[in-house]
Amino acid sequence: MFETSIAGSLPKPAWLAEPNRLWAPWRLEGSGLAEAKRDATVLALKLQEDAGIDIVTDGEQSRQHFVHGFLEFVDGIDFAHQVEIGIRADRYKAMVPQVVSALRLKGRVHAEEARIARAHTRRKLKFTLPGPMTIVDTIADRHYGDRSKMAMAFAALLNQEARALEAEGVDVIQFDEPAFNVYMDALKDWGIAALERAAEGLKCTTAVHICYGYGIKANIDWKASLGREWRQYEAIFPALANSKIGQVSVECIHSHVPIQLLSLLKGKDVLVGAIDVANETVETPEEVARVIAEAANYVPKENIIPCTNCGMAPMRREIAIAKLEALAKGAALARKRIS
Ligand code: ZN
Repeated sequence: MFETSIAGSLPKPAWLAEPNRLWAPWRLEGSGLAEAKRDATVLALKLQEDAGIDIVTDGEQSRQHFVHGFLEFVDGIDFAHQVEIGIRADRYKAMVPQVVSALRLKGRVHAEEARIARAHTRRKLKFTLPGPMTIVDTIADRHYGDRSKMAMAFAALLNQEARALEAEGVDVIQFDEPAFNVYMDALKDWGIAALERAAEGLKCTTAVHICYGYGIKANIDWKASLGREWRQYEAIFPALANSKIGQVSVECIHSHVPIQLLSLLKGKDVLVGAIDVANETVETPEEVARVIAEAANYVPKENIIPCTNCGMAPMRREIAIAKLEALAKGAALARKRIS
């Protein structure tokens, strides 16, 4: 009970990439970079194991960004001519590449880090991929002319990579869909269908992560505009509960999400965000245990997986590690109290 996990990313060591920022430039290139990525992956696993995390990830040490880390391996995208678009319903502007022809995978995306990770941990291994709707919201379209069509095209590629990851012994494949919290109608029209297409035929555990974003300024300002209660999950959880996805990863601690909304995820495992990634104060095990206990009022305890609210990529490394330890200790405390 209360096996712990993380949303996905961890900070990178300073010898791999510039610390404390998103889109951090790599410190090396060529074969030196490839070796450094492998070393950082092994280290990320070790740090999670030592902290007491049960379901570990590669820490996303081999990708610069959770969406573009995938797009780099896709043919049909023009990276040379980027255009500015509004992302997540204009929450922020970003320069993005353009889809210019039919999409195709150039080859495997995460083969190297999956192989390294699987060889170096006996714990359950989770791999994250961007969800189709979030990809579509982070790129310009000059080919498909329809967001749902383009999402289905990306979903087919995600499925190809996900099946290969499963064959390599990955236990959980998680799709990151922060866009689900923004386009609640499109989610029902085609977002869930695209997600299910991405997960089609997988026998391993499947998950979707839906958060309110990293602790960057655009997200903090957006959160401040959402009012006293954040009820986005209320609109999307019933559709997710009816989907074929097994687990749902959500933001709980320090958010204004009414915790009782978790009861709408009937039949799913819930990755309960009990660690805040938008602030540097390390939670106490007591605080973590309290979030788990609150969630247990609305989710059967055997379906609760204590987790982080979101990825930790832009955080200070020592703080991220301390937060992982707090997560594991808090889960242990909750286990003792609730079992
Ligand atoms: Zn997130």
